[in-house]
Amino acid sequence: MLKVPFLDLRLHHEPLLTEVREAFDEVIDSCAFAGGRFVEQFEGEFAAFCEAKHALGVANGTDALWAALFAVGVKSGDEVITVASTFMATVEAITHCGAKPVFVDIDERTYTMNPALLEAAITPRTRAIVPVHLFGQPADMDPILAIARRHGLAVVEDACQAHGARYKNRPVGTLGDAGCFSFYPGKNLGAFGEAGGVVTNRDDVADFIRLFRDHGQRKKYDHVLDGWNARMDGLQGAVLSIKLKHLARGNELRRRHAAVYDELLRELPVVRPVVAPGVEPVFHIYAIRVAGRDLVLNAMAEAGVSCGIHYPVPVHRMKAYEHLGVPAGSLPVSETCAEGFLSLPMFPELTQPQLVRVAEALAGTLALSEECAG
Ligand SMILES: *Cc1c(COP(=O)(O)O)cnc(C)c1O
Repeated sequence: MLKVPFLDLRLHHEPLLTEVREAFDEVIDSCAFAGGRFVEQFEGEFAAFCEAKHALGVANGTDALWAALFAVGVKSGDEVITVASTFMATVEAITHCGAKPVFVDIDERTYTMNPALLEAAITPRTRAIVPVHLFGQPADMDPILAIARRHGLAVVEDACQAHGARYKNRPVGTLGDAGCFSFYPGKNLGAFGEAGGVVTNRDDVADFIRLFRDHGQRKKYDHVLDGWNARMDGLQGAVLSIKLKHLARGNELRRRHAAVYDELLRELPVVRPVVAPGVEPVFHIYAIRVAGRDLVLNAMAEAGVSCGIHYPVPVHRMKAYEHLGVPAGSLPVSETCAEGFLSLPMFPELTQPQLVRVAEALAGTLALSEECAG
């Protein structure tokens, strides 16, 4: 029986390994381990890829979000509006600025921030908005940006799942004041360890992050602000330069696989992803929604197909955020979607027989659960 992994990084890396090992030798020979010229080279390349004026390498995507929020002026006592249908890190970045996360619900088709709910969440304390380009699909940025402008709010994009995605032909990350990326190994552009980045067209934001990530040092031991150690490793900069060259092709293959899934799953009782008009997604995740999700997940695993759940519990329902007092039922779309989300295998190297196998396994699983129910 053909097995289908959720993700196969080894297969993705294999053709690149000779080049990566040579690059690692160069980093080792030059001892440019923390920041340095390999990081700077990647920053130039990633800025060009994102059509941004600046790209700053940092230690991980969570630090990228945290530094960017500080850079746009978020501070203790502020409120920052975001979504609960995201990875925990989006919200941690807000609370670790001393600010209070305020959640708005998502659109039930695109799973991104519903701009129609935004205005009602704004208070005199609101400082910034953090839309999340979840699963690699850009949030509906034009109305979000218009509302932000009207109220004098900063917009920090969580683009950690959306490297290379486009909104009305503009690359994500450059639409707001700053865009934050994760290069965690499993992301569309992944390092060989932890790494992240911020892109921005604002000189002041870039200057702040350049200082912040290096203990606020203007030059050695001249600390002009209370910063942090959030530098990117030289080894990660080197591998990211190599992998960036394959990102556009990988994204194209993901879109092709998504189109094949769309076709193969057409007759099944599942909700398939909806791509909003004018948007070019990058399918970091291909998430469907299905009844009896946990049973389906297990049955798929038994059939040799590894699926995932992104994410089983919306952030406001996590124990960590109990103290925010956001009751169950207050974000109905986020909560309902979380119960049904099932992420199918998605990575550039998936083969046609594997895609067919996933669809067959899903059809078999759903037919079986229907029989049980009947
Ligand atoms: C991965 C991810 C992050 C955090 O990135 P790390 O590099 O793991 O710190 C933040 N937000 C979203 C939506 C992510 O998927």
